[in-house]
This record gives sequence, C-alpha cells and structure tokens, in this order.
Amino acid sequence: MTVSSHGNSGNEEKGKIKMYGLGVLKGMVVTLGHFVDTYVDDIRWLSSKYVSPEKKAYRQSTKGKGLFTVQYPDEKLNIPERFRYIPFLIYEEKDGKHEDRCTSCGICAKVCPPQCIWIVRTNDAVTNRPIPQPKEFYIDTDICMNCGYCAEYCPFDAIKMDHNFELASFDRTTAHIYDKAKLDRPLSYYASLRPTDYAAEEKARAEEEAKKAAKKAAAAAAPAAKS
Ligand code: SF4
Ligand code: SF4
Repeated sequence: MTVSSHGNSGNEEKGKIKMYGLGVLKGMVVTLGHFVDTYVDDIRWLSSKYVSPEKKAYRQSTKGKGLFTVQYPDEKLNIPERFRYIPFLIYEEKDGKHEDRCTSCGICAKVCPPQCIWIVRTNDAVTNRPIPQPKEFYIDTDICMNCGYCAEYCPFDAIKMDHNFELASFDRTTAHIYDKAKLDRPLSYYASLRPTDYAAEEKARAEEEAKKAAKKAAAAAAPAAKS
C-alpha cells in the first residue's frame, strides 16, 4: 500500500515536471519568434520606421511585429485626443484683439485638489472695481497632478488640458511656475488639439445661442401681438 502510494506521487511529480518544462519551452519559442520578427520588421520598414506616422501607427497597433519597446525619444507613442498634462488658457481673436475666455471667477482655483492655481483679477483703473478678466494667472506645474478638474469645472471653457509632456528643465525654481503668458493659447490651438471636444462645445454653444435668440424674438413679438 505504502509502495503503491509512493509510486503514484512519483508519477504525479514526473508529470508536473514534464508540463513545467513544456511551458518554458513554449515561452522561449514565443520570445524567439518576437526576436526574429523584430529583424524582419526592421528590414521591412528599413530605416524609416520612426519617421512615417503610418509606419509608427502600424508598429504600435496589434498588427505590429517584434519587440514593442518604444525607442523614446526617437519614437514616441501617438497621444490620444483626451490625453491630459498641464492646463492652458484659451483666448479668442476678435477684431484683431486678444480676448481671454477666462473671467477670473476662481472656480478652477477652488476645485484644484493640490491648490496649485492662483489668480489675480483685473481692476478698473478709474473705479477700481473688479473686471471679469485675469490680470495674472499662475499654475505651479510641479504641483499640478494633471487631474483635469480645472478644465471640467470651468463654466466658460477657458482652461483646457494640454498634450505637451516634454517639459523637463534644469531649473527647479521659478521656471516651473507658469504665468499667463506661458499658459495662453489661441482657440485654434485647442481646436486642433481636441477636435472632438471642440466640435461638441461649439455645437452646444450654437444651440444655446439659438435658444436665447428664439426666446428674445418671442418676447419681442408678444407685446406686438397684444396691441
Ligand atoms: S479658467 Fe475658468 S474657472 Fe478658472 S478662473 Fe478662468 S473662467 Fe474661472
Ligand atoms: S489639472 Fe488638476 S491639479 Fe492641475 S491645475 Fe488643474 S485642477 Fe489643479
């Protein structure tokens, strides 16, 4: 009885060792396949694999062959439209004038979890009364955690998240505190960076304007109809 029990466990052990060995072998074959594919892929695209966006997209897709290590900075991953890094401020050009969308309402500064935004509102030079326009606007980019809350909460679509992540510098003091000049971007920049969001916002804005115009027209027509 004891002998046969030993015999069974011995057979099980042998089976396990056999299966384990097979798995390692299979893994090595897969690795070897990727290794060979890398050279085949390199020859296929010759020296231009990092240059053409189509080839880069192919290599980063599920059809890509070989090793998938991104050779940064020669090669960079394609950034999805909703990728977010440091925020920027939008201004519009109306009649040749730079017009900030930001009204310095301060909502973004309030909702910012690490409190890295601070704003100085503009005051009228004569009356000293506040004007809905930022005089100064700062973001400490070392503290910003790229959460996007500021952009989500801004009621005026004035602050949006940028894609640019290559911001490293040797200055660890004031260079990473972005002022308004460094944060300002034209509306066209936002439209090219996030075309889907931009189109949706413009559509909603146009619908809102149309509703307001219809309401105004109805209000103007009402007294005329009474008389
Ligand atoms: S960016 Fe938006 S939320 Fe922030 S102060 Fe300006 S208008 Fe207000
Ligand atoms: S992305 Fe987040 S952390 Fe950065 S400024 Fe906006 S709210 Fe603050």
